[in-house]
Amino acid sequence: MEEHTCQNCGTRIPAGDVYYNFSAKFISGFDNYIPDAKPETDPERLITEACKVILQRSEQELMDEVYEEISLLLCPGCRNKVRSYLLSLKKTVKTKSEKILPFPTKEKR
Ligand SMILES: [Zn+2]
Repeated sequence: MEEHTCQNCGTRIPAGDVYYNFSAKFISGFDNYIPDAKPETDPERLITEACKVILQRSEQELMDEVYEEISLLLCPGCRNKVRSYLLSLKKTVKTKSEKILPFPTKEKR
């Protein structure tokens, strides 16, 4: 048995007490649509500008923008805070399921 520490608030969680493992993933989406460039746009200039933007950011930042996993060990109080926040987001996102994390989906595209 080992003691744990909530990674949000720092509360010590004695061995045997309830704690939660929380994990979330951000996965970049792509809808296969690439807008046409304006005819007067120079493609080489666009590529040069894109490279400048990319070089100003760290490799980790760029990778996190595409795929990022976040894992936290939480005490019950912080679990409730995270859960409430996530469910508050749900009010603006329409899902057909009442599950917190609706997967696998049965929706057809
Ligand atoms: Zn906590």
